[in-house]
Amino acid sequence: MVSERMKGLGTARSVIRELFEYGKLRAAQVGAENVFDFSLGNPSVPAPDAVNDTAIRLLQEQSDLIHAYTSAQGAADARERFADSLNRRYGSHYTAGQLYLTVGAAASLCCVFNGLACPGDEFIVFAPYFPEYKVFIEGAGAKMVLIPPEIEAFQIDFDAFQASLSPKTKGVLINSPNNPSGVVYSRATLERLAGILTEKSREYGHPIYLISDEPYREIIYSGVDVPWGPHIYRDTIVCYSFSKSLSLPGERIGYVLVPGDITDSGDVYAAVAGAGRSLGYVCAPSLFQQVTSLCCDMTSDITVYETNRNLLVTSLREMGYHVVEPGGAFYLFPRTLESDDMAFSERAKQLDLLVVPGSGFGAPGHVRISYCVQTETIRRALPKFKELADFYK
Ligand code: PLP
Repeated sequence: MVSERMKGLGTARSVIRELFEYGKLRAAQVGAENVFDFSLGNPSVPAPDAVNDTAIRLLQEQSDLIHAYTSAQGAADARERFADSLNRRYGSHYTAGQLYLTVGAAASLCCVFNGLACPGDEFIVFAPYFPEYKVFIEGAGAKMVLIPPEIEAFQIDFDAFQASLSPKTKGVLINSPNNPSGVVYSRATLERLAGILTEKSREYGHPIYLISDEPYREIIYSGVDVPWGPHIYRDTIVCYSFSKSLSLPGERIGYVLVPGDITDSGDVYAAVAGAGRSLGYVCAPSLFQQVTSLCCDMTSDITVYETNRNLLVTSLREMGYHVVEPGGAFYLFPRTLESDDMAFSERAKQLDLLVVPGSGFGAPGHVRISYCVQTETIRRALPKFKELADFYK
């Protein structure tokens, strides 16, 4: 006998993975240069040289210590460096004691949901959304309440949002810059959200926490403002990761920030740490606690993502696709040219163009294009996008 729920999760098919696996098989048949795989969100630029240099230096200088366990919440010096970096950027006063280091944004989110959720609690999520949220929230014994997408700009459908709030709402999850739309929530959107949350927290007599999932915080394009959540809504908990900004997804490193001024901050931090303990997410990889904390003020060279965004947005619009311009991350989420996004993705696949149906992200009628690839790959894929558009004319 095994847990049916876990068995289900372990065997469920993932459209993204299936497309990726198909791409590898197809590449073996027709040559990798003839398959245009836009399925995965793996950064295409290397980590900065300083990351590798720092790792090598630490391995040489501290070979006896660097592989040791740290405190469960992460080494104090690493947490201090992260707090100092945030304080320099945002003029805040965070301390090491407000940071819990863990294995990427996925674990950060799991620690927060497990730390906050009491029986009957609900967390609100806005479509389009990263599909793992449902797994994380339900894994914490809570219910995910999904708000349908606002497809004109991928901001927030406030009427639907207000209708979904109830005394059961424990938290609201946002992800900006967003996977899969690439859209950044505007200051006006966040201020309106904060106003509603403040009012409803008062009405229900308990805080509604805003959980800000920010693995793409640093991947933003010229002229785009990414407001710092805790400055707009006090009860904000931040989940961060170095997977994308420093191109380190395989090193599994990130943190939860529980600002000291949120409601019941001491309890929330203790519960996040307790969740980390119960899930086994203690003591994030020691080497990369040090490396990322020494390199946290830099990013990989992300200029290629903006080049790719510009090329795709301009070209796809010329071909007749409807595209909301991303302000960051490395995803584009155009409307499909037929209402069935699965059929559209399948037709694209016939042209060796691998794009992910939007249904899985809670936004049918769209596909996700992950453009964290070489610009040359996009250039060579454009005739395929054109052929696809022409098919529907
Ligand atoms: N949140 C979002 C929106 C993501 O896109 C991802 C990964 O792609 C994650 C969380 C998980 O990131 P990590 O690799 O840091 O666990």
